[in-house]
Amino acid sequence: MLSKKRIAILGSTGSIGTQALDIIRDFPEEFSAEVLTADSNADLLIRQAIEFSPNAVVITNESFYPQVKSALDKLDIKVFAGTESLKQIVEMDTIDMVLAAIVGFAGLHPTLNAIKHKKTLALANKETLVVAGDIITRTAKEEGVNIYPVDSEHSAIFQCLSGEFHNPVEKIFLTASGGPFRGKKSEQLATITKKEALQHPNWVMGNKVTIDSASLMNKGLEVIEARWLFNLKPEQIDVLIHPQSIIHSMVQFTDGSVKAQLGMPDMRLPILYAFGYPQRFKTDFPRIDWKKINEFTFETPDTDTFRNLSLAYEALNLGGNMPCVLNAANEVAVHAFLNDEIGFMDITSVIEQGMQKATFLKQPSLEDYFSSDAETRIITKEIIKTNYK
Ligand code: NAD
Ligand code: MG
Repeated sequence: MLSKKRIAILGSTGSIGTQALDIIRDFPEEFSAEVLTADSNADLLIRQAIEFSPNAVVITNESFYPQVKSALDKLDIKVFAGTESLKQIVEMDTIDMVLAAIVGFAGLHPTLNAIKHKKTLALANKETLVVAGDIITRTAKEEGVNIYPVDSEHSAIFQCLSGEFHNPVEKIFLTASGGPFRGKKSEQLATITKKEALQHPNWVMGNKVTIDSASLMNKGLEVIEARWLFNLKPEQIDVLIHPQSIIHSMVQFTDGSVKAQLGMPDMRLPILYAFGYPQRFKTDFPRIDWKKINEFTFETPDTDTFRNLSLAYEALNLGGNMPCVLNAANEVAVHAFLNDEIGFMDITSVIEQGMQKATFLKQPSLEDYFSSDAETRIITKEIIKTNYK
């Protein structure tokens, strides 16, 4: 029998991280947690470490180090702290696969380092591909590292492409639920609250991706993610609103045939597929109840109201560091919205202004991405301070 796959979960205390641990708990013969990392949720990290006995844990926020260290003192678990440790931990020889489940730009360094150390990657952290998709995919190719998508749409595309690797793709359709505000217009959205925006109809996720889903920026980021994962041109990537969230995405081949992947909206499915690829494992997850599904509907996205999706295509078409700028501006704007500093519709205008003001670089290096991210954060914080406070 093959030995267990030892998985490092970067961001184990998040929505994806905890669901990944649910999978490891359900399949103890197949997978084990080799490393767990968290930013500042020390209590949960400690509980996870006690249950899963990883080789090592990292708490990025160093002020929690004494708490984690003393709680795990009597166990044979190494405890590290800080962002440098997070970056280095993926180098451990005993790691077979890294699940990148940190949210935002913070995931870039450890993810890239995992690839450089030839670790197979299960990728949830879409922002990494949005920011530096060229460097990530090039390095993965050079190192011979496979990247398995965890994002449900990209997992769907990947599953549709199985057995089709030599057949050209005409286009793909990324499906989107449309979020809680589908059908609403700008005037109605101007006054919506944080609480309303955090209520997603079909998925329970971390706050940042939930706001991104409500604003359609999530789909914009996913278009860029798909461009890199599947080496497509922007015009080959379409977005379709499918409120039932059962069809997770589709591929149209050059003969006109379309393949779709369907399933219940449950992130454990794409996580398990990425962990186990190419094998499928038996689960007792809820099955689609066809008697309860009356219809599948599709709409084109309302990009006059939800302009974030257009901004993402614009950034993708401009290329260079523009997707990195888009991402940084969005991270700052979403943070400001969650802090009640700006309104929901202001998110888009802040991003747009950030994109106009940031320095454009046609062929950025990795260092350029870091400085562009930092510059955009300063610019957008300034925009918020001057215009919205
Ligand atoms: P989350 O906010 O629930 O969890 C984020 C995790 O990252 C936590 O463990 C946190 O401790 C860690 N973290 C946050 N900031 C960090 C930092 N600066 N340094 C180190 N660690 C940090 O987020 P999530 O919803 O699990 O999403 C994670 C990623 O997966 C995102 O990129 C998201 O877009 C993507 N994704 C999520 C879902 C979902 O259903 N939640 C679906 C598809 C894709
Ligand atoms: Mg998704």
